Amino acid sequence: MATQEIDRRPRPDRALSLYEDACRHVRAACRALGVAEGTAQYICRPQRFHEVSIPVRADDGRLLVFAGYRSQHSDALGPCKGGIRFHPAVEGDEVRALALWMTVKCALLGLPLGGAKGGVRCDPGALSGRELEALSRGYVRGLFAELGPDRDVPAPDVYTDARVMAWMLDEYERLAGGSVPGSITGKPLVLGGSALRDEATGRGCALMALSAMDRRGRPARAVRFAVQGFGNAGAATARILHQAGWRLVAASDSQGAVHADGGIDPADLLAFKARYGSAAGYPGAAALPPDEWLALDVDVLVPAALEGAIDEGAAARVRAAVIVEAANGPVTPDADELLFARGVDVVPDVLANAGGVAVSYFEWVQNRSGWYWAPGEVEARLRDLMLSTFDRVDAEQRRAGCTPRQAAYRLALGRLVEALRWRGVAGT
Ligand code: GLU
Repeated sequence: MATQEIDRRPRPDRALSLYEDACRHVRAACRALGVAEGTAQYICRPQRFHEVSIPVRADDGRLLVFAGYRSQHSDALGPCKGGIRFHPAVEGDEVRALALWMTVKCALLGLPLGGAKGGVRCDPGALSGRELEALSRGYVRGLFAELGPDRDVPAPDVYTDARVMAWMLDEYERLAGGSVPGSITGKPLVLGGSALRDEATGRGCALMALSAMDRRGRPARAVRFAVQGFGNAGAATARILHQAGWRLVAASDSQGAVHADGGIDPADLLAFKARYGSAAGYPGAAALPPDEWLALDVDVLVPAALEGAIDEGAAARVRAAVIVEAANGPVTPDADELLFARGVDVVPDVLANAGGVAVSYFEWVQNRSGWYWAPGEVEARLRDLMLSTFDRVDAEQRRAGCTPRQAAYRLALGRLVEALRWRGVAGT
């Protein structure tokens, strides 16, 4: 991970409030659906929550011990599904919130999967490749009994990638004593990964950005957009929107931001970042002060970094017509309401970034059937799923006169509650 810069800035302790925010959305949707308070409370809590200590022998011989978490939020609709993040700010409540969002995301798409999320509190940029491998394998050893294709299927998330998934899969298969490719998604192609999985989140986001602008009527000029968090999801979104004729005018990462009114070529910026570790200092653009990206004169903002990037104060400064949440939870609930009142369309995370888990689902299906699809087939299925889900959310939003996020939660929780009723968990 030598080319990757990690955001080491202390973040305010938002973990608990993130989880409370997630529960607030659930309770509001349950009220709108006429679902009993007790059922809403049940839905807010994870079904199971695991915490493990992961010992790693450092290269210098010291013993390092890391805290690892896995929240298995719900398996009412199918095996738990969700990524694992490696980040210095990972907290139990953050993981609980992210797992709940996965349940909502999978339910909204109509997948036969529940929701989960994992995390390890660590600074991956400060670990050697060997230490990272030991950490990845240690995570799987600590949680082996909880994982598996019919129980809980991990995938990449912030600062984890196909390399980390390969170590995890290998460890899982060693312990299982056989080939179990459906136990992890986001694997390298040669280990049973799916075509397009690496750029699936970005593809989905780009489709959602295009749909949201079509819905408003696109401007005659090229659509101008900015990406906060030029990482896996952000860079892929930018590349696809650039191909569609949109103009990337600003991009940022944890080290800085750059801005060029005439446009930035995302492929060129990505090559620069791969070489120097950050978008900051890119010669084709001017430096932009932190947080100025959100007040730029653009049509679309794509926050693709971490939670809480746009709070109420920031929302008042937004000039864009559309925000596409490539990250999980980048717009706070208060900001969401303010943006709705100001007429800014927010494509919520559970829809905007769902392309990742959609192709994870395709990968799991391919692993279980042993029949692998060509990229064109994955692309066509992803497009169909994302566009039909966008249309369902749009129709519900118009029908109910609510925010797109509320519409998405109502559709998702309607499905979850129906499953819980059949299981005898939800009374009403
Ligand atoms: N980490 C991604 C997300 O937040 C993907 C999860 C998955 O593929 O299971 O949606």
